[in-house]
Amino acid sequence: MTSVAGSSSTRWGCAAVLALTTLLAGSAHAGAEFTPGAAGLGDPFFPKAGNGGYDVREYRISLRYRPRGDAIDASTNIDATATQDLSSFDLDYRGPQIRSVEVGGAPAAYARDEQELIVTPGAPIATGSEFRVVVSYRGRVGTVTDPDGSRSGWFNTEDGSVVVAQPTSAPAWYPANDYPIDKARFKFELTVPKRLEAIANGRLVKREQRGSHSTWLWKQEEPMATYLATVATGQFALRRSKVGGIRSITAVDPQVLKRSKRALGKSGRIVALLEELFGPYPFSHIGAIVDDANFIGYALETQTRPVYDRPPGAVLIAHELAHQWLGNSVSLSSWPEIWLNEGFATWAEWRWAEEAGGLTTAQRFKLLRRTPAGQNGFWNPPPAALPGPQKLFSDPVYVRGAMALEALRREIGGRTFLAILREWATANAYGNVTIAEFIALAEARSGQELNGLFDAWLLQRGKP
Ligand SMILES: [Zn+2]
Repeated sequence: MTSVAGSSSTRWGCAAVLALTTLLAGSAHAGAEFTPGAAGLGDPFFPKAGNGGYDVREYRISLRYRPRGDAIDASTNIDATATQDLSSFDLDYRGPQIRSVEVGGAPAAYARDEQELIVTPGAPIATGSEFRVVVSYRGRVGTVTDPDGSRSGWFNTEDGSVVVAQPTSAPAWYPANDYPIDKARFKFELTVPKRLEAIANGRLVKREQRGSHSTWLWKQEEPMATYLATVATGQFALRRSKVGGIRSITAVDPQVLKRSKRALGKSGRIVALLEELFGPYPFSHIGAIVDDANFIGYALETQTRPVYDRPPGAVLIAHELAHQWLGNSVSLSSWPEIWLNEGFATWAEWRWAEEAGGLTTAQRFKLLRRTPAGQNGFWNPPPAALPGPQKLFSDPVYVRGAMALEALRREIGGRTFLAILREWATANAYGNVTIAEFIALAEARSGQELNGLFDAWLLQRGKP
């Protein structure tokens, strides 16, 4: 049931790997061999994503955005801890030209090979030691084309820019260990012409004006996966408020302000429902970035502040906010298990629609269930048996994925189901999970054998 994701040992949380290598280092250090960190973590869909040999604690991204030429002048500091004796290590990077790379304050040699930035420090780095990498770069930024043909990364808009970087395009604008198991804290220092706003994740620490430019400091204190970092520049109407008691900043392009107001106004009720389902909201801040950029074609659950490429409806807001618990706080451990994000967020979105007076999740399930297997694209491929990354965001992951959860609810009863959802979101907060772990929890709490149900709904072709 879990073989879909494989289980390479490199993916078992960085902390465990670190503890083990520190132990080994004690006895083996005298003759230690310093070796290059791995260029990827072996994800079945994105084998080169992420890197081996270190664990990032914090990113500090300082960038100056130049509207003319859609260029940035940036430097990213990465504070990391070595998890092996490193002679060199890789970062994932697909951004503009590099000006310099430093490790521990000294210039380091570097080379680029497609998405890999290979860094060779002047002196090797011993396992367990903390080190800082500073990469400075300058030039035009943009998007990358994903396996499914859509674009992600840094989008240039009419009045600025906006970032949506799922699954693997964070490196389009900053060097990173780009894999969801290596979450880190983030600081953003964004300099823009003073007529523009600059928005990112988390807390707005301060905004300073100097001459013709202003600098915005944002801090994301809770751990965040690299693909959930965002920066939006341009003209935005900022609104500070409290949503369900949580400090909120929404940034809305004036072009779409009027058309966004009604749905955004429902955020408090949506959060109240989601807290009922999943427990307390996991972050200290909340909000939204609504841009006038519908050429992007989708919204993304960027942490604390989802990006909408056009005025969102309340159902979409419910979906992206549900991801704050499931996807952002509780993260997948490998990309083929994307059902852990999208199946859950879609079920939550259905639950919100029910709350708002629409179909109940049970009615929706029955309606969809009647659709013949050959007639609609949401049945295949099965959500946890995707043939490759080109199907990562295909309809079955969402629709059949949410039906799988509704099927579970029908099987074990609403009360047990809700208790499981809540425990899943709270016990795994800020961590990484697998589908096998969800099934194990569901079986433990329901006292039922559920492999057959999950096998039918997540893995087998055709109609369950
Ligand atoms: Zn989603």
